[in-house]
Amino acid sequence: MLKRYFQPERETMSREDMKAHQSALLVEQVQHVYNNVAYYRERMDAAGVKPEDIHGIEDLHKLPMLTKADLRDAYPYGLLAVPLGDCVRIQSTSGTTGRRVVSFYTQHDIDIWEECCARAIVAAGGSNEDVCQIAYGYGLFTGGPGLNGGSHKVGCLTLPMSSGNTERQIQFMQDLHATILCCTPSYAAYIGETLKEKGISPDEIDLKAGIFGAEPWTEEMRRDIEKSLGIKAYDIYGLTETSGPGVAFECEEQNGMHINEDHFLAEIIDPDTGEVLPEGSRGELVFTSLDKKAFPLLRYRTRDICVLTREECSCGRTLIKMSKPMGRSDDMMIIRGVNVFPSQVETVLLKEGYAANYLIEVDRVHNSDTLDIYVELLPEQFSDTMRDITVREKQLAGAIKTMLGISPKVHLVSPKTIARSEGKAVRVIDKRKLHD
Ligand code: ADP
Ligand code: ZN
Repeated sequence: MLKRYFQPERETMSREDMKAHQSALLVEQVQHVYNNVAYYRERMDAAGVKPEDIHGIEDLHKLPMLTKADLRDAYPYGLLAVPLGDCVRIQSTSGTTGRRVVSFYTQHDIDIWEECCARAIVAAGGSNEDVCQIAYGYGLFTGGPGLNGGSHKVGCLTLPMSSGNTERQIQFMQDLHATILCCTPSYAAYIGETLKEKGISPDEIDLKAGIFGAEPWTEEMRRDIEKSLGIKAYDIYGLTETSGPGVAFECEEQNGMHINEDHFLAEIIDPDTGEVLPEGSRGELVFTSLDKKAFPLLRYRTRDICVLTREECSCGRTLIKMSKPMGRSDDMMIIRGVNVFPSQVETVLLKEGYAANYLIEVDRVHNSDTLDIYVELLPEQFSDTMRDITVREKQLAGAIKTMLGISPKVHLVSPKTIARSEGKAVRVIDKRKLHD
């Protein structure tokens, strides 16, 4: 049966009821973390805030903020707020060694997460009559498990394909009449291109909608995907720290994502000063998880830059909307779905005996990310023969792959050929133009 909302009582709540709901949960959550997590207790004590000082969401600003560095300090159990025996799942951020974030879930936390994903599926027109093909990766990555759970909650027939093996994806898509596709936008575009190469027209498949996220994508890419697959393409946002995809999702307006603010309270701050900015300002998105129990983050700085708006939406949802992320307040890039920091490349270069003169060039060719890394040879390495250089390039590419989890193309160049900057070094050229 086609429903307009998965949880209408939450998704269309009046502003007053939502504030009361959020306030009650916040008071409870602050007590929970203060009583159960030494890390929070110390931070709150240092800031001179006690749980009794928090009466509702108007007091949120009194709480200290958390950053990814805090999560790394506390790795792995330092922010756990329930006994391990109450946890049923762990997920982790994509790819990167040394910067992994591990998130814990109770069954209740999983239920909340899956309900958020279910809301996204219903908003994309999903019901128990749909066949939902999930081509996000399964495993530690949150994409597959999150949408898989959401699809079950909606009652869709779920195809847990995971990513890759595009031939088989297309065969199942056709044979089992998949109607909704969930994957990264890059992979959706790739499936679209493969269909075209095989001479299969969008009319020969049954897809009607796609739910794509986990990385930035443009309106132009949306139009390409919609055309090549014959669908409506919806955005979905989330991060492992707050549970995974489903923190925010697009409705039929396809114009910004509704934040599931009954679970995740959003703020926008100035990334430089930490000052809270009024709704409608562009700034860094900060989330407080209101009712997750195992790994509840209070005022967590996402580093994603966006704008929040509370204009009326034609879909009838009253949930606040966030714009597509417009960039990051740190230097993290998402390349082929993996989080990459330039500092990781630098670490490998130094370890492998190169100087830190390098340039990372990222591009998107036929909707697939390319990663080229130019590295200067030291004068003493420069005398090597071409053959030695090729061997060195391969070795270095291997070492970088081990660090990042994705393969770069390494180009060793002559000493002093990479332009020096007079100010901050330019380490990255991102030609993908992901942020308008
Ligand atoms: P995930 O939750 O996708 O497993 P990570 O926790 O590793 O991934 O990375 C989360 C980051 O991915 C977010 O902070 C944001 O920068 C990016 N991201 C997720 N979804 C989107 C989206 N729909 N559009 C743009 N960026 C996104
Ligand atoms: Zn809407």
